[in-house]
Amino acid sequence: MTVAANGQRRSGGTPLLDVADLVVHHGQLRALDGISLRVFPGEVYAIIGANGAGKSTLLRTIAGLHRPTTGTVTFDGANVTTLRPERRATRGIVMVPEGRRLFGSLSVEENLKVGATYARPGPWTIDRVYEMFTWMRERRHQRTAQLSGGEQQSVAIGRALVANPRVLLLDELSLGLAPVVVQRIYGMLPQILATGLTVLLVEQDVSQALRVASRVHCLLEGRTTLEGPPGDLTPDRVEAAYFGLGDTPGGGDAGGGNGGQPVPPAGHGSAGPDGADHGGPPSGPPSGPGSEGLWPG
Ligand code: ATP
Repeated sequence: MTVAANGQRRSGGTPLLDVADLVVHHGQLRALDGISLRVFPGEVYAIIGANGAGKSTLLRTIAGLHRPTTGTVTFDGANVTTLRPERRATRGIVMVPEGRRLFGSLSVEENLKVGATYARPGPWTIDRVYEMFTWMRERRHQRTAQLSGGEQQSVAIGRALVANPRVLLLDELSLGLAPVVVQRIYGMLPQILATGLTVLLVEQDVSQALRVASRVHCLLEGRTTLEGPPGDLTPDRVEAAYFGLGDTPGGGDAGGGNGGQPVPPAGHGSAGPDGADHGGPPSGPPSGPGSEGLWPG
């Protein structure tokens, strides 16, 4: 399924979300090292990368859950870098966190009501969520802890939608779910996009990301290694960027202001807030799926 044919949803003009030179530390660890990206209205933009690449840190920083050391997050023309997460939510930046983070002792409907706490006006209501996930209405009084992983993920998406986001941040939707369930959940994306949303997602399943995204952005140890529309990226280039296997072959746009060339991977740990190098290069490829995992089938 292609939600957004490669590049077609990328529009010119003003980006809805503009992340510039973002540096984020977790203590001494430089988790993001100068990340820039622009997400345009209506597109599906995917962040890919191995475990620990910084994908969740990036999404959480955009949502306001981490404060960057330097760099800016601009949303709809306004600098939101220092805004609290709930203030960002009321402006339309809403995240489905990794691991769902539902209130397991609350019912489906109670969880959806939580999502509506900072809701903007818009097309998404609890009823609308029930129309999309048809099983949900009759199980609305069930505690979410009793649901399957896929059902919980659907509730987490519903909870985000009832806030009426303008940009929906999806962190690892596929984590821990069977492929058929992942397909079913991603199958909802066209309905979501049809209501005017923009989607920025993090996905370790590279094939899945390439299927749904208009552009992908690969991170490795906090740095951009590749950026571009899937149609411009060969499997070799994506693998090289994902695993840090030297320079990736040409083409595409690395997003690092280097004239469209892929960015060589950074050394692990790089410099901390004090400018010191806190770690050497990794001894092997980052953990994550092997090449066959990147390109199943
Ligand atoms: P995964 O796919 O495993 O979730 P990721 O690409 O999302 O990985 P992050 O979770 O952003 O990567 O982590 C980036 C780096 O920052 C990792 O080295 C991780 O151990 C570290 N890290 C993440 N969150 C914290 C935290 N709260 N405190 C300290 N270090 C953290």
